[in-house]
This record gives sequence, structure tokens and C-alpha cells, in this order.
Amino acid sequence: MTKYGGRGSDFVIRNSFDIRVSSFVIDTPSKALKRQRPAPEGVQQEQGQAGRRTMPSTASVYRARWVLSNRAGSIEDGAVVCADGRIARVGPWSRLQPHVGARDAVEDFGESAILPGFVNGHTHLAYPQRGTRPSFANPALRSPLRRAKQRASEGENAERGTKDFVGWLSRLTAQRLASGPAAIRRAIRDGARASAAAGTCAGADLAPDARLCKCLAPHAAHWTVFGELFRFGRAGLERLARAVRTLDDLACRTGLRVGLAPHSPYTAGVEVFAAARQEADARGWPVSAHLHETLDEIEFTRSGQGDLHKWLSLAQFLPKDLAPLGKRPIPALAEAGFFKGPVLVAHGNYLTDEEMAILARSRSSVAYCPRSHAFFGHADHPWRRLLAAGANVCLGTDSLASSPSLSVLDEMRFLCSREGDADPRLLLEMATVRGARALGFADDLGDLAEGLRADFCVVGPVAPGQEPLAAILAGEGNISRVVLGGQAQAGICPQ
Ligand SMILES: [Zn+2]
Repeated sequence: MTKYGGRGSDFVIRNSFDIRVSSFVIDTPSKALKRQRPAPEGVQQEQGQAGRRTMPSTASVYRARWVLSNRAGSIEDGAVVCADGRIARVGPWSRLQPHVGARDAVEDFGESAILPGFVNGHTHLAYPQRGTRPSFANPALRSPLRRAKQRASEGENAERGTKDFVGWLSRLTAQRLASGPAAIRRAIRDGARASAAAGTCAGADLAPDARLCKCLAPHAAHWTVFGELFRFGRAGLERLARAVRTLDDLACRTGLRVGLAPHSPYTAGVEVFAAARQEADARGWPVSAHLHETLDEIEFTRSGQGDLHKWLSLAQFLPKDLAPLGKRPIPALAEAGFFKGPVLVAHGNYLTDEEMAILARSRSSVAYCPRSHAFFGHADHPWRRLLAAGANVCLGTDSLASSPSLSVLDEMRFLCSREGDADPRLLLEMATVRGARALGFADDLGDLAEGLRADFCVVGPVAPGQEPLAAILAGEGNISRVVLGGQAQAGICPQ
């Protein structure tokens, strides 16, 4: 036994010296992907059963005061057994201990909790570069947008329920266009590293230039790179064709999962949304878009007015003959066929019942980014109404341009602090399995359950006598270990 300390805030790594051969069994990945639910607790499959095999060598066993699973609930004195990068068993230590073999490594994290890896439903790793977050005040960069901003008084902004989104976006856009590829690659690498350290096992990265995302390929977390699409009419369709070629190439060369994301209704035409849906469906790619983020965006499509329209007209971004759609974005895009399948909607801050019904019918998901939402001062997010309407809601961090970190746990904690009556178990779902569902990974990750990828993090210590998840969301404990695909992530040291 390698002993690092006793139970409590310390942990123990040991090799069991009894003579038992490991009896944990796991599914092959292909089988694991097909099964939705783990075998009932305490049911050990026969060795040699079709589709299953015994572990030839070792399993890694992670033990803690709490194992917090979406499916199995809170397991006190629980353990997670991993082999070949997958979860072989989850359950109470008392049931799993008899199966621990001579060569199985056991780590005991004492008074901590093991949580499923987090899924970041919406971010932009590419920007901004460190230390260049645009602020509302003292813009460092001038642009036509700023003139549009000056027209909007503080009173008008307050009425719209948002701070100066247009001014912020203009500064961010100017920064992005001024950044060289090396700086953007560095930002993506830094962002992926920070995300892993925060326990993120999968995420949606919306990328203006997907070619710069190759560095995500060897990453232990499962990133989906959504190529962002801009422009209207023929120019937009030509850009879509180029983006499809780029993403095809990226997926073939790196194995990364890719998707298409018409940026928003004010930066891409409805014809680009419709064509992107067709291209994505033909390839089995997911689609995403920023939708109903601001009231200005809704005004843009409804009447062709508002600050976004003024800014983009001044910047000569809009075609001169662009006519308003005469409708709010989601109904207009639904008419164009964009919602004939699931869409990962970023934000969805302002939604009517009819629009929520469109999202539910199309099995779409909304990535709610609580700290970014607060940064812009939006009206209360309709996430509870969305869930009640049958739509999926997950959590995202958005980018460092509007959020202080890329940590989904920080988003949960923030949301919990704002909405004290939120059910901690529901927040955990939104941070994990609902994110996995939004990205199409629900059969592969997002929970602590047999057959899923061995992605989890250890958070602690949590003082005894409390409901562990509520305590963690109230700010107790830090992430002391992150395991992705069965591998402990470097740079996150046990405390
Ligand atoms: Zn975004």
C-alpha cells in the first residue's frame, strides 16, 4: 500500500495485496454506446458473456465520501471503477471492494465528492487574448459601431434590458480582426487547458476560423468545433461552401467532431441558415447559432431597425437591398427549415411560448450562460420555462470576453447564488448530462455510469453533515483532480 495519509482531507493510493484477480468487467466502447442505463446495482455480469470481457490487467478505483451521479443520485462512501478509459462500475465502496484485485490501483479522496465531467454548451476559445477583454467603458478601439453606440442613451439601454451590447461587440470584432493566427492559436490552447483544469470533458467551441482549432485534436476533452458563418446572400453561401471544405478537412485530418454555426440572424442571411442545415444534415453534423440573445437582434429581423442594424449598415456589412424578415428570428428560421432538426441555441434570452414550442418540437437545446447573461444585464433568463416546455437546457461559459472564467462549475455556483431555490440536482444535470445531450454525446459521457467515458472531477473537501452538492454549489471545496478518458490531467495536483 502506498499511503499518503488517512481518511479525511488526505487520500490514499494503494495496490491491494490480496490475491484476488480483478473481476471488474466493462463493455467494449461500441457496446457501451448502445446502452442507455447501467446494470442494476449489485448485479455482476458473468465473465465471458457475449459483448463483455474481463479486465486482463488493472482497473483504477477512485473512492470518496460522495459520488454524485445524475442517474444513481448521491452515493455515500462511493467509488468509481475505471478501465480502458471507461467507467466499469459505480456504487457504494462496500459493494465494490470485494471485486478489487491485486493489481487494481485505489485512490481515496477522503471527504471529497466525485462529480461527472462538465460539458460546456457554448464558448469561444479563440477570444479574447489574455488581458484584452473589451469593457463597456473607455473603448480602446474606434469603429463605426461606436458612433451607433453614442446614439443610444443610457435610458434607452436600460429600457432594452441590456448594457451596450453593440459597443462591446464592435470592440470585440475589431480585436478579433486585428489578431494574428499565432495569438489566436495560443488563446485556443490556453482556453482548452483552463477548461480541462475546470473539469470540462466536452464542449462546443464556436470558431470564426476552424483551421486554427487543430490544436484541440489531441485534447482529452471532446470538443466540437462549430465553424461560424457570416454574411448574406451569395457571399454567405460561398463562405458556407468554403467552411464545409475546411471542416471536412479538419475532421478527416484530426478526428475532431465538427459542426456548422451560422453566427446570428444579424450577421448571416436566412438563406445561409437554411443551406447550413442541409449541409450539416447531409454529413451528420450538429448545428448551432446565437439566437434571441438581445432585443436588438429581434428588432433587426422584425423591422430592420435598431442599433445592430445601424452599426452593421455603417460598417457596410449589410447588403444594400437586405429586407427585414418581418418576423422574430426563430419563427422566421423555422419557416426556412432551420429547425427541422435539433439546434444548439446559444443564449435564447428572450423567448415567447410559441418559440419555446418550436425549440421543444425540434428537440433543440439552449445553452444558458449565466455570468455572461448577467454581464450584459439581460432580463431574467427563461430556463425554467424552457424546461417546462420540454426543451433541453444546458450551461455554457461563453467567452472570456464576457465571463471571468471557462469553468462550468463557476457558472453553476453563480446561478445558485442568484437563484437560491434552484434544485442543485437539476443544475448538475444542466452542467453535465443535458450538455452531453445538446452535443449528441448523451450515450457516451455526461454522467457517472457504467459504460460511459471515464470523465470526472473530484471536488473537496466537503465538511461532513451537509448535503454535498448543495455545499459545493455554495462554494465549498476546490477541484483537486480531473480525470478525462481515464487519464488524470496534468497540472491539477491532489491537495
Ligand atoms: Zn457566443
